[in-house]
Amino acid sequence: MTATLTQLEQHDRFIRRHIGPNNAQQAAMLDAIGATSLNDLTAQIVPESIRLPQALGTGEPCSEAEGLSSLRQVANKNNVFKSYIGAGYYGTHVPSVILRNVLENPGWYTAYTPYQPEIAQGRLEAILNFQQVSMDLTGLDLASSSLLDEATAASEAMALAKRVSKAKKANIFYVADDVFPHTLDVIQTRAECFGFEVVVGPASEAVNYDLFGALLQYTNRHGQIDDRSELIKALHDKKAIVAVAADLMSLVLLKSPGEMGADVVFGSSQRFGVPMGYGGPHAAFFTARDMHKRSMPGRIIGVSQDTRGKRALRMAMQTREQHIRREKANSNICTAQVLLANMASFYAVFHGPQGLKTIAERILRLTDILASGLQSKGVTLLNNRWFDTLTLDPLTKADVTAIKVRAKAAEINLRIDSETRLGISLDETTERQDIYTLFEVILGPDHDLDVAVLDDELLQASAAQSGIPESFKRTDPILTHPTFNRYQSETEMMRYIKRLENKDLALNHSMISLGSCTMKLNAVTEMLPISWPEFANMHPFCPLDQAQGYAQLIEELSDWLVKITGYDAICMQPNSGAQGEYAGLLAIKKYHQSRDESHRNICLIPQSAHGTNPASAQLAGMKVVVTACDKDGNIDMDDLTAKASEMSDNLSCIMITYPSTHGVYEESVKAICELIHQHGGQVYLDGANMNAQVGITSPGFIGADVSHLNLHKTFAIPHGGGGPGMGPIGVKAHLAPFVAGHTQVKTGLASDNNGAVSAAPFGSAGILPISYMYIKLLGTKGVTESTQVAMLNANYISQKLSSHYPILYTGRHQRVAHECILDLRPLKEASGVTEMDIAKRLNDYGFHAPTMSFPVAGTLMIEPTESESKVEIDRFIDAMIAIRNEIAKVESGEWPIDNNPLCNAPHTMDDIIDPAFDTRPYSREQAVFPTEAVKANKFWPSVNRIDDVFGDRNLFCACVPMDEYK
Ligand SMILES: *Cc1c(COP(=O)(O)O)cnc(C)c1O
Repeated sequence: MTATLTQLEQHDRFIRRHIGPNNAQQAAMLDAIGATSLNDLTAQIVPESIRLPQALGTGEPCSEAEGLSSLRQVANKNNVFKSYIGAGYYGTHVPSVILRNVLENPGWYTAYTPYQPEIAQGRLEAILNFQQVSMDLTGLDLASSSLLDEATAASEAMALAKRVSKAKKANIFYVADDVFPHTLDVIQTRAECFGFEVVVGPASEAVNYDLFGALLQYTNRHGQIDDRSELIKALHDKKAIVAVAADLMSLVLLKSPGEMGADVVFGSSQRFGVPMGYGGPHAAFFTARDMHKRSMPGRIIGVSQDTRGKRALRMAMQTREQHIRREKANSNICTAQVLLANMASFYAVFHGPQGLKTIAERILRLTDILASGLQSKGVTLLNNRWFDTLTLDPLTKADVTAIKVRAKAAEINLRIDSETRLGISLDETTERQDIYTLFEVILGPDHDLDVAVLDDELLQASAAQSGIPESFKRTDPILTHPTFNRYQSETEMMRYIKRLENKDLALNHSMISLGSCTMKLNAVTEMLPISWPEFANMHPFCPLDQAQGYAQLIEELSDWLVKITGYDAICMQPNSGAQGEYAGLLAIKKYHQSRDESHRNICLIPQSAHGTNPASAQLAGMKVVVTACDKDGNIDMDDLTAKASEMSDNLSCIMITYPSTHGVYEESVKAICELIHQHGGQVYLDGANMNAQVGITSPGFIGADVSHLNLHKTFAIPHGGGGPGMGPIGVKAHLAPFVAGHTQVKTGLASDNNGAVSAAPFGSAGILPISYMYIKLLGTKGVTESTQVAMLNANYISQKLSSHYPILYTGRHQRVAHECILDLRPLKEASGVTEMDIAKRLNDYGFHAPTMSFPVAGTLMIEPTESESKVEIDRFIDAMIAIRNEIAKVESGEWPIDNNPLCNAPHTMDDIIDPAFDTRPYSREQAVFPTEAVKANKFWPSVNRIDDVFGDRNLFCACVPMDEYK
């Protein structure tokens, strides 16, 4: 054995860990499909005119140890000060039992959105708990399962208000001038698109306007707590909808906004055990009155039953969603913040109502002590009631300057509102010693205040000394459901989390071939850095000189993404793919405006587009015109040419997906870009399919102007059971001045006067280390090979299955791109077996179903990704063939159409112990152990097939009463 040092080093690289099939497997697969090499296959699939002439230049691949140590250098440049900035982001202790068993556990973070609820009952229960927490604390009847952040939730609240308000003629949305500035910013961006007038002023003056809705904040940005019951009543008399932004921790103690009459309540659940992460990801909660249920944004988990009548959970009222209603959808939310909602709900489960109360009361007590000490020294407070936030005003400019110097020396950040105003927000992590430090920073070293003495004095004084007077206190009980009252020991908690995890199929069990979702490896080495305090514990509005590590991370990642996309600049703000679409369309809109062409508002969208495309176009205030696809799944050029000419004067843009959602590299894509440009339009290329482009072609090279990237698809951020995600956009230079800006932080692009699309300047910055590591570890060689192996895997499956199921679309040389669509309609016609039956039967074989009925009804779209090895792919192919043989038995009449392993799938343990099973025409073994491979690693669906219609007719979206468990 002789090898050079270079060869030894190369063997140690991450590439062979990320890419599933090893060299021998790749060779066998290439052979099976008739290609001589990866390059040969690529040349067969991707038209020459579209292929990049040279390699990407994103660096050399490296080993995991090297990758970690180089990111460590970057992390060390972040200087983590203790944060009292508040403004929606607070210090929190992530309970270790949740950190390790949820955030750092692939059983939780690699799952997808629960499209197959029979194998997702665990996370569905966790989200249902989140809804219960939201409802209990806000005092409203119905909660959604998580939105992206507080500020986008505010704009969803505004949109809901417009939909449901009876003040049909009114066009004003009134925003109290004491809401967070970044919330207002995101609202203004959205309102401009909708043509709403936003009026900002003192809350009490809202009644003077003809308005359809109003937004109040409780507690407000200064920490003040006001009872808004009378105001809300007066606004209701004007038929306005009242939305209230609220803080979850304060609501543990405060009278709920629901009790005050609010129609919608929303806010961030970050401080329930989710690190600040320099802005995210965190889940926003959103609650409303029951009568507004059909207008709710985002997903709602509801209770239904399975075919045995057993209680079962699933996503409720899906028909309200963007993928069904397209440009008529309530919102464009697709990926949300499920993992973080789950963390917050587990935080509530672990602490229970009493634990939460203790945490909240301690925060209040420390704030009381801080206030009383400062006031005793003559400091004036702007607010006379508080939970955790004090605003010091007025101070002299000299005081503020001196305080800033002392704060810096003590390594703490205060909220600097102006030259004469400071804010301090305490949180769960604040200790007694911190109050001394704060006294020193604010008053100078010579103060003689003693926390214990102040505490005694407060206890002896009347209750009125507290920041929350009696009349503002919550009197109704919270979190009375047993789930929140039985898991306070770590052992119980650990087992509860595990019990739920066991019900869910995630990537740590088997491949999840959901087409368009790119369920690739989320490597541990990529994930580790998100838990590092240097990344996890930074406040998004901390001074930039403390966040130099993040600045470098964002800059280097942006540079790589510029190379990969062929664009000129990257905007990191959007925190999901759909938000990226919205942000990209806004840039197009502003670009047209800058050229005095604001009348250009038509957005062409091919029939085959993902539902978020039309939904986002509608949010951006554009008019959607749908164009046809031909029988091969390509954009119908005749129809497109005709529509582009017809709409030429008013054409804003086209939204296309490449390779198309049909899984084909359309040869005409460059011609499409040219055609749209000739008519003065811009090209938005949906980047969800970048996993078929990286290193081979690019949106910029093809001729598009702007794209979002789903970092949670192509660039290894895990899907978290439905989120988080990151949807940065790449733009050509002419659009760069028009991307999102931010009121609080300079984002570095020439556009800080532009409105924001997210609460935080760099969106969910806390998960960017994952994509950074992905590109760093793989290098140019690895990211390019990933694309090629993704295509190899898809073509191998397509080839192997094509004699059993028709492949709906193929491109050049009968190849597919990185995914393939099985057409099940002929089989359904012949046998009566539906795509749903096949999807559920796959669960019995231990697999998650591929994407069902998108982009064509009656089909399955399979995307294996490069991370699946030949062994796993063969197992999947065997399962699909075995299922085809089962269908044959239905076709031939051997099994009746209404009693066979397909229509009865998935099978549960309940089935197996049911004596009535004996009457079925197939055996128990056939039901649950159809192959030897299944026996070796059985996954048991925890419920039988779920009845969606029953659940929607009997809508129930809260934790189930305990007697139902009996
Ligand atoms: C996933 C996807 C989107 C939406 O991305 P989210 O992050 O879920 O908002 C848009 N278009 C296509 C083609 C997709 O596959």
